[in-house]
Amino acid sequence: MRILLLATTTGYQTRAFGDAAERLGVELVFATDRCRSLEDPWRDGAIAIRFHDEAASVAAIVDAARARPIDGLLAVGDQPTVIAAGVAQALGLPGHPPEASAAARNKQATRECLREAGLPTPWFVTAPIAADPDSIALRLTFPCVLKPLALSGSRGVMRADDPASFRAAFLRLRALLQTQDIRAVRNAARDTVLVEGFIPGREFAVEGLLHHGVLHVLAIFDKPDPLDGPFFEETIYLTPSSWPEAGQRAIVDAVARAAEALGLRHGPVHAECRVNEGGVFVLEVAARPIGGLCARALRFQQGGFRKGAVPLFPGEPEGKGVRPLFTLEELLLRHALGESPADWVREPLASGVMMIPIPRRGVFRGVAGVEDARLVEAVEDVRITAKADQILVPLPEGASYLGFIFARAADAAAVDRALRAAHARLRFAIEPEWPVVQLRHG
Ligand code: ADP
Repeated sequence: MRILLLATTTGYQTRAFGDAAERLGVELVFATDRCRSLEDPWRDGAIAIRFHDEAASVAAIVDAARARPIDGLLAVGDQPTVIAAGVAQALGLPGHPPEASAAARNKQATRECLREAGLPTPWFVTAPIAADPDSIALRLTFPCVLKPLALSGSRGVMRADDPASFRAAFLRLRALLQTQDIRAVRNAARDTVLVEGFIPGREFAVEGLLHHGVLHVLAIFDKPDPLDGPFFEETIYLTPSSWPEAGQRAIVDAVARAAEALGLRHGPVHAECRVNEGGVFVLEVAARPIGGLCARALRFQQGGFRKGAVPLFPGEPEGKGVRPLFTLEELLLRHALGESPADWVREPLASGVMMIPIPRRGVFRGVAGVEDARLVEAVEDVRITAKADQILVPLPEGASYLGFIFARAADAAAVDRALRAAHARLRFAIEPEWPVVQLRHG
């Protein structure tokens, strides 16, 4: 069996899929935008595509699949989801329809679809980033949220409470959209800003798999830290959710309706919602799984025990009667090959991840206390992903974290405590940047 993986990034997630494929005895074929990756970690036979040229990328993959047929496919990251959908359609493989994937990736199209379907939606307007913020502000009510149409990971998302803070946020977003790395993305939606009503309330993430139109929820994550702005940095994800059961059902119902409204049908989905007395507001349903290292917070079991199962993780009991645990990547590959997720359930332990926020701009010189943090009870791993001498840029302009902390325990409150205790033991050395000296020639 051969699965095509359309991947945005090098790094952990791709490796995790490689490991999962090996365990399953499945061959992986990669399709990626090679011109944007400096290293070349890809196995032989990777298909080179250009994420911004979707029609040509679909054609290149379909062409390659003639020589090496594929049995299923998966997109990782936001960028290749529409290409993946086009390939699925062309090859007659189950997947999300291309128009649905495109709508899911565009914040304005998402809002329009959800509003049309009668789902709770904040008011929203769009404006060109070149427009005059003061005249836009005249039409708004506050607080509101500004966001670029086509970035992800809360990049460029800002709250404004009055015309003055709106103007400042708008100009900040304009500057961000003019930076070179964003212009390199070459997405037509990059010059537009979406402004919408601020939705107060608690926030949740839902990880799911659509199987021929039916949503199977893999996990509901609580986000215990308030996300009230002005920037929206995610920190802790905890599962199972501690929200009352009826509330969880309402969340699942809203995500299922939102996925249907967008037209998503088959494949992974990752949704974000905010909940208040007005209902469940689905912020987005991305046609892809949870990003990168966070997937490690999820492990699954299948109904029934398998004798003599080999544990996947150190410290787990081995041998008779052990229920095998699967990684999310393994489960996604199995789903891509057509297996139903109907009897896949998350493990019984509570689990969580902290995306370690970047506290301030500066040069990363290192971190102390990692070993100490790993010793906190229930903490499974502390992974620092920032590289020495890297310039750290916090939100709203930046796009990454210092690293990740993982914990598992009997209940979510203990996981939450463990993540915070481990974080408190880390001491990051972040130095101010050297002033830039501009040399003039001639
Ligand atoms: P991205 O796809 O970049 O993550 P989102 O639209 O999901 O962008 O917004 C990122 C975060 O910003 C959300 O998870 C939420 O915390 C916050 N946010 C976005 N829109 C709103 C809104 N209308 N009201 C309140 N918070 C919002």
